[in-house]
Amino acid sequence: MTLKILHMYPNMLDLYGDSGNMELLRYRLGKRGYDAEITAYTMGDGAKTDFESYDLIYLGGGADFEQQLLADDLLSCRDKIVNAYKSGVFMLMICGGYQLMGQYYKDSNGKKIPGLGLFDYYTVASTNKRERCIGNIVIGAELEGRKYKVIGFENHGGMTDNVKTPFGKVLFGNGNKFGSDTEGYFEKNVVATYLHGPLLSKNPKLADYIISYCLSRRQGSPVKLAPLNDKLEEECRKVMLGRLLQG
Ligand code: GLN
Repeated sequence: MTLKILHMYPNMLDLYGDSGNMELLRYRLGKRGYDAEITAYTMGDGAKTDFESYDLIYLGGGADFEQQLLADDLLSCRDKIVNAYKSGVFMLMICGGYQLMGQYYKDSNGKKIPGLGLFDYYTVASTNKRERCIGNIVIGAELEGRKYKVIGFENHGGMTDNVKTPFGKVLFGNGNKFGSDTEGYFEKNVVATYLHGPLLSKNPKLADYIISYCLSRRQGSPVKLAPLNDKLEEECRKVMLGRLLQG
């Protein structure tokens, strides 16, 4: 089986190695004998893109400048992206991508960038450009009934409000806004988060949650993934969790 992935604006939304998340998916699929066909979407590709035909749509993070540049192009695909999301295509979005799927993003100059309005949340940046949530972050998430600590790095001026179903509870760091209890937005087929990292290399169980969702949906029955040797990843996680949570 080959998973079809649409990587939107890889040339514009790629902060802190966010594109590494796609390499990670390809790697973990490959180890289990599956393939990934990753298509890069760049500005102007909307008309020729069949969003619903993909298993996963991915947007990385980007600075205000890039978000502004691509906002109109993204809006022109709104209906097709809404249909893909409603049909169950998995949506993975990091930081700037997360913000653009909400109602709007008001940047530090007060300029309002319209979002796709897929979800109810909205984001407003402080007018003081120096006021940003920056640093390591750990959140407590729940994936298929199992608690999992998700580790990452955040750097955002935007403060996100009105999040109905957050991705996790903040254990270290800021999250959706300064001193927030919650981080990101979550549905069965949606992970929207401020966590760079790259997110999936630091959190292999999250990668596998996404992979098994996509494979199961495609196959029409649950797919059980063979475990991989994540010894190195787990060692790294232990060090980071020890440093951040037991200090
Ligand atoms: N430009 C947005 C902000 O500062 C998103 C930044 C990012 O993707 N890291 O809030």
